[in-house]
Amino acid sequence: MSDRSYLDWNATAPLRDEARLTLEEGLALLGNPSSVHAEGRGARRAVEAAREQVAALLGAFPAAVTFTSSGTEANMLALTPLIETAAEKRPRSQLIISAIEHVSVRAGGRFPREAIAETAVDSEGRLDLAALQEAVGKTPRPLVSLMAANNETGVIQPVAQAAAIVHAAGGLLHVDAVQAAGRIDCDIIALGADLLTLSAHKIGGPKGVGALLRRSEDIHIADPLMRGGGQERSMRAGTENVPGIIAFGAAAAAASRARAAEAAHMRLLRDQLEAGLRAISPQAVIFGADAERLPNTTLFAAPGMKAETAVIAFDLEGVAVSSGAACSSGKVQPSHVLAAMGVAPRLLRGAVRVSLGWATTTADIEKFLKAWTKLATALSKEGRGIAA
Ligand code: PLP
Repeated sequence: MSDRSYLDWNATAPLRDEARLTLEEGLALLGNPSSVHAEGRGARRAVEAAREQVAALLGAFPAAVTFTSSGTEANMLALTPLIETAAEKRPRSQLIISAIEHVSVRAGGRFPREAIAETAVDSEGRLDLAALQEAVGKTPRPLVSLMAANNETGVIQPVAQAAAIVHAAGGLLHVDAVQAAGRIDCDIIALGADLLTLSAHKIGGPKGVGALLRRSEDIHIADPLMRGGGQERSMRAGTENVPGIIAFGAAAAAASRARAAEAAHMRLLRDQLEAGLRAISPQAVIFGADAERLPNTTLFAAPGMKAETAVIAFDLEGVAVSSGAACSSGKVQPSHVLAAMGVAPRLLRGAVRVSLGWATTTADIEKFLKAWTKLATALSKEGRGIAA
C-alpha cells in the first residue's frame, strides 16, 4: 500500500489474497446456483464448498450455515421471537442482550422495544454473569444475544458460562462472533451457542457478505427476513452472491489456517503499542486492560483528548484509527460501551480505538507512537496535561 498505516481492522480488514483470487473466479462463474444445468451446478458446487469452509472455522455443520448480506443481517435474522427447536415451537417473548452489544443487536431484530432487557457489564467491560442469571430468572425461555468479543474494547466475553445459565433456564443463545472469529477460537459447540453471526469483511473476505450459523439443523427461524425463491433452505431467499460467498469461504479457510500465528503476531505488536503509549502518556487509560482481550485491539483515552480531533490528527500523520465505534457515520457519539463500564463522562467522547491485523508491522506501531507523541505534546502545551 502507500506509506499510510491502517490501524482500523475492527472496522474492516483488507481482502486476503486468497479471497481476492476467489472473488475474481466467482465473477467469472456463469450459472445461477439454483439452475439444474452444468453452469448452475458449477455455481452450486462453489457455494457449497464455501459453506463447508465457513462452517469449519466455527466447528459447525455446513447445512446449518445461512449466507446473508452482512453481519447486521445475520443478527437481524437471528433475533426473532419465532425461533423454533425440534422440541419447542412456541414463540419467545423476551430478548435479553448485554449493555455493550453492537448497534445491530441493540436494534433488537423483530422484538418490540418493550420486550428487550439489557444486562450489565463490569468496569472492565465483561458481562456480569450474576446479572445475567437474575435477568434470565425473571424471563421464561428467553432468547439471549451476547457478543463473543467487543468491537470497541476487544474484551472477550464469558460466553460458555453464559450459555450454561441461559440453557438452564430453557433459553437459546445467539452469539455475535463478528469481531472474535479468526482472532480467537470460536467453536460453536465449545461456546455453547445455538446461533452465531459472522461477517466476511472482518476476516479478510469482501464487504457485504455474512452468515448466520445454527448449532444444528433442529434450530429453525420460522419468519425469515427474505421470502421468495426458497434459497438457503428457505431461510434467506434471493439469488446467492456467488463471488462474495466463495471469497468469504476462502477467507475463512485462510483465517482457520493462520489464526494462531496471526494472533501471536498481533499480540506482540499490540503489547509494544500499549507499552509505548503508557511510556509517552502515563495518564492514558486503556479500557479493559485487566480483562482478557482480543490480541489486536486497544481502546484508550487521555484526559482532555477529543476523539474527533485525535482521529483527524492521526489521519494527517498517515495513521488510520477510529473513535470507538466506527458505525455512527463519522459522528462521535458517547460510547454506550464505555458508559456501561461506568467510565467517567469526561472520557466518554475521548476514546480512540487502534486495531491491528495480520499485515500490521513494527513500522506501523512506530508511526502510531510518533504521531501520538506529537499529538500528546501539542495537547500538553495547550495545558491539557496528557504528555508525561
Ligand atoms: N457485530 C459486530 C460486533 C460488529 O463489530 C459489526 C461491524 O462492525 C457487526 C456486527 C456488523 O457487521 P456488518 O458490517 O457485516 O454488517
